[in-house]
Amino acid sequence: MKPLEELTRKNIWNLAPYSSARNEYAGREARVFLDANENPYNAPYNRYPDPLQLELKDALSKVKGVPAENIFLGNGSDEPIDLVYRCFCNPKNDNVVAIEPTYGMYKVCADINDVEYRPVLLDDHFQMTAERLLAATDEKTKLIWICSPNNPTGNTIVREEIAKVITQFEGLVIVDEAYSDFSAQKPFRLDILKHPNLIVLNTMSKAWGCAAIRLGMAFASKEIIVLFNKVKYPYNVNLLTQQQALEALKDPFEVDKWVKILLEERSRMMLAFKDLPICEKVYPTEANFFLAQMTDAPKIYNYLVDKGIIVRNRHRVQLCLNCLRITIGTKTENGELIAALRQYA
Ligand SMILES: *Cc1c(COP(=O)(O)O)cnc(C)c1O
Repeated sequence: MKPLEELTRKNIWNLAPYSSARNEYAGREARVFLDANENPYNAPYNRYPDPLQLELKDALSKVKGVPAENIFLGNGSDEPIDLVYRCFCNPKNDNVVAIEPTYGMYKVCADINDVEYRPVLLDDHFQMTAERLLAATDEKTKLIWICSPNNPTGNTIVREEIAKVITQFEGLVIVDEAYSDFSAQKPFRLDILKHPNLIVLNTMSKAWGCAAIRLGMAFASKEIIVLFNKVKYPYNVNLLTQQQALEALKDPFEVDKWVKILLEERSRMMLAFKDLPICEKVYPTEANFFLAQMTDAPKIYNYLVDKGIIVRNRHRVQLCLNCLRITIGTKTENGELIAALRQYA
């Protein structure tokens, strides 16, 4: 890996961050807060929330097996996705490499930040090799994006190939593990201390059932977390989100139960799809969704919309011709989808 200073934008490396009232007193006992121009009434919503979310990070640390100082929390994973561009990529100059197809936000944030985005097409099994990914890099490549289990394909990327990219690439590698709770593979987040150039993304939006509260996280070296904290909005995770996340983390067994049911339902749904005359192929998955190749995805998609059932049409995505992406719902919802598709003529 190149030195972090060399990978970081000069203005960010030299940035003196905004220092909030709550940052400055942190750590000491205090009773009277007359420092932040808050209203003394309407507790607890009158006070600014903890800018570094320390209580929540302690709770997450136990569940995720990552030290609190190696955790960054943001407004969904969207925030750390945008932050890596803002911290490391010089607009109009640097570039990033990513597998294709994958999650759309990596490209959107590249475009917003005016950074060249270099997609590398996966093979017919939606797999990649480190060699092909590294071949797309040059001296101006700051980041490589890998999503595993991948969205919209559902499969995990071969672990050894990801590991090779991490050890051989001189820049930063981001592994998005939004769906790792649904997968049997060993998560890369447990390897961040071994690899200073690795950033792993997680979210409360999927297995944890908290998409509405917007809480995403990045796991990385202390030095990278410090950079993210310098650049983020001072109070980027609001009090309600912090409280609700702490509540959810009290009962990780509830999540295990949901995951178990969803995986059973996923098997049932995939078998049902394989039996449909309008389904040509069901792709292997380790996420809470699967990709199915249909006879005519756009037409079937519209047919389902007319019945009030919304799936994701991925027909226009590379390698996904005529594919629908099906999220696993409740037994009742899944049953409705299958019943509608059996009636399709
Ligand atoms: C759903 C998803 C996320 C979650 O994004 P949030 O902003 O945390 O809701 C992140 N990455 C991938 C690949 C996803 O599919």
